[in-house]
Amino acid sequence: MKKYYKDLILIIVLIIVSIGIYIGYSFFAEKGTKVRIYVDKKLYKELDLSVNQSKNISTEYGTNIIKIKDNEVFVESASCDNQICVNHKAISNSKESIICIPNRLVVKIEESVDDSDSKVGEIDDIAK
Ligand SMILES: [Zn+2]
Repeated sequence: MKKYYKDLILIIVLIIVSIGIYIGYSFFAEKGTKVRIYVDKKLYKELDLSVNQSKNISTEYGTNIIKIKDNEVFVESASCDNQICVNHKAISNSKESIICIPNRLVVKIEESVDDSDSKVGEIDDIAK
């Protein structure tokens, strides 16, 4: 009987924790747009687009200095030969990206994962 009680507490704790994670996640998801920096197709760093900052991304492929200013992100300087990423205009909309092929770097603006769900809702509203 005591073991059953323990298991029940464990289940309740797990439910509370998962609800907490879900609430925390949706809170952060609504917080705004993220700048995700990928190096060699792996997520290297995630930055908040609303926070002015500059980040030095130094990897085995090269160095890029990423700058976020007034909700826009751009590559301030880079070690690559072609400088395409530096000459790319600042991006501010989700799904936009700056790619530095020599340094295998991708700077991407992404909305939260919940975004697709809210878009489905919008389409439903229009259909009505
Ligand atoms: Zn470049």
